[in-house]
Amino acid sequence: MALIPGDHHLLKKVNRTRVLDVIRRFGPIAKMEVAAKTGLTFAAVANIVKDLESAGMIVSKGEGESTGGRKPVLFEMNEEACYVVAVDFSVEDIQMAIMDLATRECAKIHTSAPVDGEPDSYIEIIVTGVRQMMAEAGIDEQKILGMGVSSPGPVFPTTGQIFYPPNLPRWKEVPLKERLEAALGLPVKVEKDANLAAMGEKWFGAGRKAENLIYVLVGEGLGAGVIIDGSLYHGQEFGAGEIGHITVDRNGPKCNCGNDGCLEAMASGIAMVREVRAKLRQGEQSSFFHQGEVTFPHFMEALSKREPLARSVADEASRVLGIGVAGVINAFHPQKLLIGGKVPEVYPQMVEIAAQIAQKRVVSVFRDRLNICTGELKGRSSLVGAAASVMEGMFTLRIR
Ligand SMILES: [Zn+2]
Repeated sequence: MALIPGDHHLLKKVNRTRVLDVIRRFGPIAKMEVAAKTGLTFAAVANIVKDLESAGMIVSKGEGESTGGRKPVLFEMNEEACYVVAVDFSVEDIQMAIMDLATRECAKIHTSAPVDGEPDSYIEIIVTGVRQMMAEAGIDEQKILGMGVSSPGPVFPTTGQIFYPPNLPRWKEVPLKERLEAALGLPVKVEKDANLAAMGEKWFGAGRKAENLIYVLVGEGLGAGVIIDGSLYHGQEFGAGEIGHITVDRNGPKCNCGNDGCLEAMASGIAMVREVRAKLRQGEQSSFFHQGEVTFPHFMEALSKREPLARSVADEASRVLGIGVAGVINAFHPQKLLIGGKVPEVYPQMVEIAAQIAQKRVVSVFRDRLNICTGELKGRSSLVGAAASVMEGMFTLRIR
């Protein structure tokens, strides 16, 4: 971190943010321990703690063990000091919530996506929903830090624009951040769903202790969110994490991106649906898929009932996923690789199978340290990540 010499105000802000973040992560915690974890002097921590307490950001919470003298007072975040609005929308549905700093929901709406798929219709549902939640929750609007939005990618996070998401064909270039800020008067952050799923797990789920974490999201599509040294990695502009378009079989099926044999074309929900249709055409028998067109929700229902054809297709997709995951691990060697999303939620065996294959295929030095598992937040990971993306501004201060 580069500081400008003599910039006292900035230094104070950095220190305050660090103290607040340590109290958030490790509270209830004594000042002495905060000093040890931040590297600040006890006197500096004591001053900051006093300020934070009088601002209502932290509260005292009992006493810790004595190390000889008086028992130290412990401090923790006042989780109701501020609130955030979180939104997660997809092709199928829209989830919205107002959460406190511990992600407890004080208002929530879960509704279907608009049938016309138009951006204007989505925006109208979100704006109306957020206003309704604010009225219901009865929270002082001054306490709302901002709004985080999880969207199907590609998203340009600095401008909050969405560009031709392949799964939302009616969307072209949509300045979502600008539109929502104008309608609601709140600062808005927009990120793609896989990035926010990674962030949700990093802040409040299975990735809390990991500084380097990758979240592989397997729904209709397939992508990943990459966290390096505690923050999201966007790559040049915004494109990092598009692991769905890593080629796993150069003679494999055509992908939506135009290439052949992409991971997404072989291991995503859409790929599995396509495979079921192909098997039925080839004469494979199934008591479930005997009539009509196979859709993604239809496939998911079959998988939840462990229907044999759906299962065998999912197992094969899981093996291919394992090959892709091994490549990702070889490239990044994360502390943790989480596999989540609609498909593994319904079919957790996907994670086990992919982990077994990855175990065999990663370079041998990584093998014993592999940590592949599923997320803890399940269907809430991107929503919680949307909340975390707003909180991040309060607990971290990055100077580039
Ligand atoms: Zn592709």
